[in-house]
Amino acid sequence: MDLLTRLVDKGLRGESATREEALAVLATSDDDLLAVVTAAGRVRRRWFGNRVKLNYLVNLKSGLCPEDCSYCSQRLGSTAGILKYSWLRPQEAADAAEAGVAGGAKRVCLVASGRGPTDRDVERVADTIAAIKDRAPDVEICACLGLLSDRQATRLREAGVDAYNHNLNTSEEVYGEICTTHTFADRVRTVRSSHEAGLSACSGLIAGMGETPEDLVGTVLALRELAVDSVPVNFLIPFEGTPLSENWTLTPQHCLRILAMTRFVCPDVEVRLAGGREIHLRTLQPLALHVVNSIFLGDYLTSEGQPGAADLDMIADAGFEVEQADEPSLPEHRRTQDGGTAGAPAAAAQADTAADAPAADASSGTGTATGSPASARTDLVALRRRGAGTDLPPNA
Ligand code: SF4
Repeated sequence: MDLLTRLVDKGLRGESATREEALAVLATSDDDLLAVVTAAGRVRRRWFGNRVKLNYLVNLKSGLCPEDCSYCSQRLGSTAGILKYSWLRPQEAADAAEAGVAGGAKRVCLVASGRGPTDRDVERVADTIAAIKDRAPDVEICACLGLLSDRQATRLREAGVDAYNHNLNTSEEVYGEICTTHTFADRVRTVRSSHEAGLSACSGLIAGMGETPEDLVGTVLALRELAVDSVPVNFLIPFEGTPLSENWTLTPQHCLRILAMTRFVCPDVEVRLAGGREIHLRTLQPLALHVVNSIFLGDYLTSEGQPGAADLDMIADAGFEVEQADEPSLPEHRRTQDGGTAGAPAAAAQADTAADAPAADASSGTGTATGSPASARTDLVALRRRGAGTDLPPNA
């Protein structure tokens, strides 16, 4: 396929797919799925070898959020039966983090629900980082605390935070349909603040919320423009008790196409398979490892993942290796002092001249499944009942 040959050539040079090419990847058929994965896999191996980075989530504060993000089980008005608790004490968070590190995680992601932290909350997180680093000095810390001021970003950097996560989630055009309490611009501002404070920017998307292919591609192109180092790709978990509980639109095949599209737009960036992988990719999860170079180990914020041991078995069985603490995650040209992309191949400002001319065969798509219809697998959604905020040991 000419498209894939061109995308591999560009990806090996670190150049991004154009909007038109990215749309064409999403519009490929199931018959071409293995060819798409193989092509994306060549790009993945060029920049990340056969390493898989493991990340471990610690939910510092769960539920009780005043924001109304439609996809979120912790949102205002959610009736999902999730764990609800206020800030974990530093030693409680360190216990959970220690389990993740023992399970092979290189990065611990400290997450708290809410619009954004107060300065007092930032100091709590600083104390938590000290407790974690006391036990695991080499672990990378990513914080995800919501909208952040420049001053708070700087304080987190001083406290030992390596990266800050704040997802764009979906395109600017439809952001107002999934959330009314903050804006796409608010999110962009926080990604920029964290980057300018010297934190590695981590920002991603959620697929399966009813968006179009144009929305998906627009989101990934926006992330590329923001020069983020890490792109988590979430697949919507349609929690009962949230507005999107009926949105079972993804098939395993389409999830793989979305991951491949992300890889072709962000060839030399950490692409992380995030929430919803067990539910939507199901038995095709190992194929995704040929495209992404990073996953979360064990459980998510409010739902349970597969056992951490199964994650490790899956990685080994698929012929990949867990990335070790002394191995760099990013390609050398991205490991610059500012945590950004100085020296990167000419990619971020790719010739996106086809911005208003989506591929003809993709323009009628819906962003949902192509081929066989998706089924509602509510049986696969398990609310988290172990780890942080409970008396039971974490899954790691
Ligand atoms: S995504 Fe974050 S800000 Fe939005 S409702 Fe959930 S916890 Fe609150």
